[in-house]
Amino acid sequence: MESLLAWFDRNARDLPWRRTRDPYGVWISEVMLQQTQVRTVVGYWERWMRELPDVASLAEAADDRVLKLWEGLGYYSRARNLQRAARRIVGVHGGRFPEAHADLLELPGVGRYTAGAIASIAFDQPQPILDGNVIRVLSRIGAIPGDPKSKPVSERLWSEAAQLVGEAAAAEGAGTRRCARFNQALMELGATVCTPTSPNCPACPWSQACHAHARKEVDRFPETAVRPTVTARFVATAILRHQGRLLVHRREGGDVNAGFWEFPNEEIRKDQDPGPVLARWLSLGSVAWTPLADLRHAITRYRFTQRIVLADASPDLARLSGEWRWATPEELESLALTGAHRRLFRRLRDDGLA
Ligand code: SF4
Repeated sequence: MESLLAWFDRNARDLPWRRTRDPYGVWISEVMLQQTQVRTVVGYWERWMRELPDVASLAEAADDRVLKLWEGLGYYSRARNLQRAARRIVGVHGGRFPEAHADLLELPGVGRYTAGAIASIAFDQPQPILDGNVIRVLSRIGAIPGDPKSKPVSERLWSEAAQLVGEAAAAEGAGTRRCARFNQALMELGATVCTPTSPNCPACPWSQACHAHARKEVDRFPETAVRPTVTARFVATAILRHQGRLLVHRREGGDVNAGFWEFPNEEIRKDQDPGPVLARWLSLGSVAWTPLADLRHAITRYRFTQRIVLADASPDLARLSGEWRWATPEELESLALTGAHRRLFRRLRDDGLA
């Protein structure tokens, strides 16, 4: 316990959200760090905190502004939940960030991990956290068999994490904010020393207590289940130009990227020609399409191939359902585009096509 805290005090990376105890800043960082690497999050977090520095500003911000600040981080339901939660804090808690773990769990998008992180890091409460890094460290320290995603193993890990942070809070020792430091130390150990491949056991402050290390079975833990197979999906994407503008479409509610703008696109079969599918969908009649490129990106277990085709054509927008816009390249810079379409737009611009 003390060796881990001392190691953290000496080795903790200087990250901007570690310089604050403001629960709002801690919360934003924790949500951004889910699914996104630390070095990417730093710039996003600093920009977000400059533009929306507190709960009130987030609660009042226009949806588009919030999505724009989130653009590129993916998993956009996280941004929408942040705003819903901010509005709940204003409506139910008078704008004051709740401290009780049970109240934190009531916030949209806040699960057991995020509530534990806010409670321990911002309010120094002995609440456990369990993310991928902590799972790996605890699985190895205890040589815990079984898939951590299974309920019994997950509950065992939560209970170990709770016991450890409880001990950190209760122990007499140097330093303060022991729960905050202990939980961050566990995550930091997993992120920088007890890494998925080639953990640096000689540099680990817990090597003496680590069962996996003693048994020379570090590679065995955690025992992850076989990964689901990757599914290939294909999407026809149209770049339609008209009077110096490009046609974009807003994704509708209930969708994973709802509220974001995209170039018109339709899912197709691998063997389908994208042009005719798009022409039919956009009621365009006969169009001369120019194939541009195939771009690939992955979302969870899906590997998408975007088949991009270009045409100078202007469909009758009144005949199409949903929200459409002819946007200039300058407008596209400021519109909230999905990540894949932002990359596509940059490529069009670099190639002189937009
Ligand atoms: S001794 Fe090695 S395997 Fe065990 S916790 Fe430390 S880095 Fe991880």
